[in-house]
Amino acid sequence: MEPSCLRYHVSGFGSRMIWLCFLLVLVLQSCSPALSDSPYLVGMGSYDITGPAADVNMMGYANAEQIASGIHFRLKARAFIVAEPNGKRVVFVNLDACMASQLVTIKVLERLKARYGDLYNENNVAISGIHTHAGPGGYLQYVVYIVTSLGFVRQSFDVIVNGIEQCIVEAHNNLHPGKIYVNKGDLLDAGVNRSPSAYLNNPAEERSKYQYNVDKEMTLIKFVDDELGPVGSFNWFATHGTSMSRTNSLISGDNKGAAARFMEDWAEQNGMPKQGAHVTKDGLEYLHKISGLPRRVSSIIPEPNEITDDLVQLASSYEASGGRRLSGSSITRRIRSSQQNKPKFVSAFCQSNCGDVSPNVLGTFCIDTGLPCDFNHSTCNGKNELCYGRGPGYPDEFESTRIIGNRQFLKALDLFNSASEEIQGRVDYRHTYLDFSQLEVNVPSSTGGEQVVKTCPAAMGFAFAAGTTDGPGAFDFEQGDVKGNPFWRLVRNLLKTPGKEQVECQAPKPILLDTGEMKEPYDWAPSILPIQIIRIGQMVILCVPGEFTTMAGRRLRDAVKEVLTSDSSGEFNDIHVVLAGLTNTYSQYITTFEEYQIQRYEVWSIDIVWPSHLECLHPGVSETCYSHGCKQRGPNKFPTSRYVGQANWTAPRRHV
Ligand SMILES: [Zn+2]
Repeated sequence: MEPSCLRYHVSGFGSRMIWLCFLLVLVLQSCSPALSDSPYLVGMGSYDITGPAADVNMMGYANAEQIASGIHFRLKARAFIVAEPNGKRVVFVNLDACMASQLVTIKVLERLKARYGDLYNENNVAISGIHTHAGPGGYLQYVVYIVTSLGFVRQSFDVIVNGIEQCIVEAHNNLHPGKIYVNKGDLLDAGVNRSPSAYLNNPAEERSKYQYNVDKEMTLIKFVDDELGPVGSFNWFATHGTSMSRTNSLISGDNKGAAARFMEDWAEQNGMPKQGAHVTKDGLEYLHKISGLPRRVSSIIPEPNEITDDLVQLASSYEASGGRRLSGSSITRRIRSSQQNKPKFVSAFCQSNCGDVSPNVLGTFCIDTGLPCDFNHSTCNGKNELCYGRGPGYPDEFESTRIIGNRQFLKALDLFNSASEEIQGRVDYRHTYLDFSQLEVNVPSSTGGEQVVKTCPAAMGFAFAAGTTDGPGAFDFEQGDVKGNPFWRLVRNLLKTPGKEQVECQAPKPILLDTGEMKEPYDWAPSILPIQIIRIGQMVILCVPGEFTTMAGRRLRDAVKEVLTSDSSGEFNDIHVVLAGLTNTYSQYITTFEEYQIQRYEVWSIDIVWPSHLECLHPGVSETCYSHGCKQRGPNKFPTSRYVGQANWTAPRRHV
């Protein structure tokens, strides 16, 4: 499906002229992407998705009083496309938004189908969110996510759908032969565990395998266009987008959005992308030197000035017309076309298993006494609303955002500059939908054998209303200011009392809202979720529709890695597995079974989709979901090559 000039020319000739084709092959070799030294076609794109900057509830803290009233800095969608010449291709989009939305994904895919037919579809397109809690809300379809925005917000939705479409179009138009490199490294000071008591309930033997109680590793892929040189990078690192607090009212990409802007500004200042551009060590040293940056992110992130430059240049080129009218539209066209043709450096900072990871690294303190909060409950004298995490810029949240963003940026830059492992191998993908409200799962039984257990519909516990130390008291249904809203009145009157079976299934969590069984005026929570894997050579991206905690993410990555590397072909021996959280749709938190017993915020809200007393993250399920794509249950002990063979990357995708 690639526009190879070779194919175009050859197809027009008859068999008797075949010798001419051979000649043409020789002549046209240089213009065929398939004949490039580089193994892939790579394309980058980005587009604004800032949305309505006033009078719209912000997504993340579920705080009805957090209403947008301006812009800290603008939001973007950033995309890469990687294709094998004449082979498969994948698209990954990273949004400066709280999370992906099923409805947004569906609409984007519709638009891509209208433009490109079947080239881009649900199988090979992944759309992920950075988890900023400072973007406009109302763009998800499930009731529970749009309660505080008082329903669906068309403006929020439209700008995100449009921005994703445009950045994919741009990436598609930029597809050129290029190379991709991967690099990994630890970033120690950009995240802490905000539910350490739950983490400690994981088996000691398992915990002893890890130095930290959060993942410190950042994985980065670097894109190098054959002609333009470096054109961008995407990285995955786990830390919440909660440097900006629940009382902030300025639209912001939080720490990851800031990091992306820092890196793109750095690239622009260093003349990227252009042919032959090389990153110098001097450039990096200079960056470290200037780390004493101004306090406000907005003052150190200039708006792109290309348009202004172009206008000035264009205006100065015109002389007096002697009364002849100038065509304004042609000027606009010239500026726009020059913008579109200008290659951009695109750098995305993507979210990973951030479920229990806070960027407020100084710890949690009581705002009344200044003392540390209670370790197990994150309370101050029994009150959760007084306990807040402190970012490194405390008490200035803009400064905290800048510092955590800057730390991620500098680590990404180090990895970018030193990346030397080239990605090689096939481009592939798997995607399926699973109904998590009625999965049957094999888990170990207390008697030493195994038993089949069944999941149940989603429900939300009381702890969800208590929020976290990044946003205490979130989702306060007691707020009086929603009583007058007809939408909220309607849904409130339809609240459901959970049945005995559901209560037992969700135990030990007391059910606040039985969301999985609430269907009026439409579904409150998703039960059927998309599960997807993207493969680019030795890089494997697990696209999951929620926030995995640190240990849950480790279990999933390890399970997938073990399955793939047990393949006797050795194809996956040097594999890198990253977990891309909050992708394609949103189903809240996913914890380990042990963490669930502690009933922190993450586990009390987890069961929006994932059931309570069943260990959905059992490796057997992980293998089932991510290697097989479906209901065929994996073995109790994971993984086995028997299943790997059936789920081989080269095998046709199996829908169940
Ligand atoms: Zn979160």
